[in-house]
Amino acid sequence: MTGNEFLRGRVGLVAGTIFGSAAGPACAGAAQPSGSGAATCSSSSQQNLANWPALTLRPYQLLCMVCTLGEDPTGAKAGKLKPVIEQISRNPNTAITLRCNMREVFGFQTSGADEDTPEGSEFNKKRDLEILYRLQLPPGVTLPARILVNHLLGAISTVRDICGSEGAGSEAWKGCPKADKGYYEKGREIQLSLCERSCGMDYARAYAKEKASGKGTVVLVPPRSVEELAKAKKESLAAMYRAKETGIPVKPHTLMCAVCQYGRGIRPPCPNELYTVDGNSSYPCDNLPELLELVLKDTEVRIRLVEGAPWEICGPCPGWDAATQGCVHVLGHGGLTNQLRDLRMLRILGLRFGDTVNGQELYRLIFERIPSTLSVCHFPLGAQEDAFSVWTDGCGRRPVNNPFYEKGRKELMEKTRDVLND
Ligand code: SF4
Ligand code: SF4
Repeated sequence: MTGNEFLRGRVGLVAGTIFGSAAGPACAGAAQPSGSGAATCSSSSQQNLANWPALTLRPYQLLCMVCTLGEDPTGAKAGKLKPVIEQISRNPNTAITLRCNMREVFGFQTSGADEDTPEGSEFNKKRDLEILYRLQLPPGVTLPARILVNHLLGAISTVRDICGSEGAGSEAWKGCPKADKGYYEKGREIQLSLCERSCGMDYARAYAKEKASGKGTVVLVPPRSVEELAKAKKESLAAMYRAKETGIPVKPHTLMCAVCQYGRGIRPPCPNELYTVDGNSSYPCDNLPELLELVLKDTEVRIRLVEGAPWEICGPCPGWDAATQGCVHVLGHGGLTNQLRDLRMLRILGLRFGDTVNGQELYRLIFERIPSTLSVCHFPLGAQEDAFSVWTDGCGRRPVNNPFYEKGRKELMEKTRDVLND
């Protein structure tokens, strides 16, 4: 098959047999710079649990953490929250379990009253439940700090109606004296402007964080540094080109994202210069445009379908986490929906992780079997559409085929046809 037959031919289009798949290792095996502190393998059986140190907190302590950073953006100087803030900002993957002082059905996770603040037992219980209600989470839940912090910042804009005294029927419910001082609201504003929230946030955030760090401002979910992103773009791209014969590791559904990007008009080179420092640019700097260009030009390029977010493609993305080699896009939870997207896509294509396939044949199969993003990307939440869920993101909420995928798929198929007719 020649390069120009790409997307046209139906040669060997039999599920599971067309590529003579070479089974690769279960591990994503993405080559990446040494010394990054990253896990060496993305296989579920080989996850390095040291990447997720554990911490147990009461829900109200999450709020107090933001309040503390509003009162003093450089962090707590003493007390229980000092090491908590330090731990989270040092490692936002820290797995936090939220326990409350509860009986009945959630008695199994009870925290007891040991860490109640002085406002009384009922106040403490109510405050914890009000917070969990707004986060739409149950008592006892465990989540990475980066997800909890980002969801908290989005879901709770003020603590006045959670911790304050307004409407209280007696002294017993007088609330926390800091609730009306605006500390939480100020801390939230600062953290919202600095925390890494989605991969669409460009270098401006990294620059802002670096400026803030100069003043000692603590950032709970720090973005990757400007220097790191620029270095990663160069090195990961070189790694991608090096792997073109053996199989470029690719997270399956990102092959479709590459089509969406193409439909949006994104073309290589996609260097860091595409990003502005004033926040105007909003496109993530992954290596997908370069991958698609390579596949279009070179008939021999091979792609290895892997779990995790491989360095060769995701390395320069602001939503890539070096420690877990994972995707932390969309308030930290994008890696979850993306893993299901990967699996949905593999099922439709009849392929498995570790399969190494010819790039052009793979795209031909994708265009043949996946005319719409709905079958892979859609996550309808029904009545809970506005809820803070780890199962929602912009692409998942879209109830129709992504118009950029539709356009990109059409353009890529026509482009090939035009070349053939010349
Ligand atoms: S619609 Fe799907 S394929 Fe397109 S960018 Fe979103 S997740 Fe990727
Ligand atoms: S890290 Fe996530 S958002 Fe970034 S390119 Fe990879 S899959 Fe996409």
